[in-house]
Amino acid sequence: MISHAAGNETRPKLVDRFGRSIEYLRLSVTDRCDLRCTYCMPKGFKGFEEPEDWLTFDEIERLLAAFARLGTSRIRMTGGEPLLRRNLSELAGRIARLPGIRDLSLSTNATRLDRYAESLKAAGVSRINVSLDSLDAECMEKITGHDSLPKIMAGIMAGKAAGFSPIKINMVALRGINDHEIDGMVEFCIAHGFILRLIEAMPMGSTGQRASFLDLGPIQARLKEKFDLRPQAAELGGGPARYLTTADGNANIGFITPMSQHFCATCNRVRLAVDGTLYLCLGQEEKFEFRPLLRGGASDAELEAAIRVAIELKPQKHDFREKPEKVIRFMSQTGG
Ligand code: SAM
Ligand code: SF4
Repeated sequence: MISHAAGNETRPKLVDRFGRSIEYLRLSVTDRCDLRCTYCMPKGFKGFEEPEDWLTFDEIERLLAAFARLGTSRIRMTGGEPLLRRNLSELAGRIARLPGIRDLSLSTNATRLDRYAESLKAAGVSRINVSLDSLDAECMEKITGHDSLPKIMAGIMAGKAAGFSPIKINMVALRGINDHEIDGMVEFCIAHGFILRLIEAMPMGSTGQRASFLDLGPIQARLKEKFDLRPQAAELGGGPARYLTTADGNANIGFITPMSQHFCATCNRVRLAVDGTLYLCLGQEEKFEFRPLLRGGASDAELEAAIRVAIELKPQKHDFREKPEKVIRFMSQTGG
């Protein structure tokens, strides 16, 4: 379905069958990663996409330009670990320059961010989300499979020095593994001016299904009391997180609760995997293959028509709770 946006915005908007406006695309630039977070990618995983099947920068630029003509205004580069894709800053610059793209961001584990922070910022990436599940080196080794904390901290501080704003810290809360560190992480983020987002583990792939799920409802109530947090009215990124703010309004904490309180009714996003597969929902199988069109000589008009067809496939909601064994692909393959 296509409608037209209000106000000065003249571009058509993509609206799905359930009336949701789809203006956000998460772009996975690689399905590979230098870490092996227990809830995400299994150790010894071999099922990576072949390089000849990766969309090239030209293909990505062309497809995202078509999305932008249909109203997509926000892009997040993700993966796998996006900083493993060679020349990512060049791609970032090409995306940032596309007419209609107003916001370009990056999700990263930050192990390589100290090398690339400045060039990414210069290329037009304005804000970053960094995965950080613990401030304890041993715990991070247990979760990520590597002695990753020193590199990650160097990356985060390089991101801060480069001027990304905001910097959001994503912490997947795991019962019995890092839940005792939540308060320490709140204090760390307040001290550095980062926005903490606590995330419930989703049953994506065997890794996600085995994760030590923690319901964030009671945690939210406890933190509210302890840190005197209040509901945050302002929009902080247009995503699924619900935010609380400190009494002075200087610090915000987000809760992403796909399991205990799902937010499908306001889902505004789709995910493009590295091989050109568009996934319409994290928790469902609906997808649309764009690589054959891009490599088969499709015109711009045909690409736009295909995007409209794909958006019609977007399902109403995930059923992670009802069917936790359903999604066999890992988060790293979809582009989380
Ligand atoms: N490698 C980058 C990173 O870790 O930020 C980007 C990709 S990663 C797949 C994106 C986000 O997905 C991270 O915040 C990670 O914690 C989250 N994630 C991965 N598997 C998950 C799962 N099963 N449940 C909830 N979040 C998950
Ligand atoms: Fe890699 Fe990110 Fe998945 Fe961890 S969460 S294994 S860093 S893709």
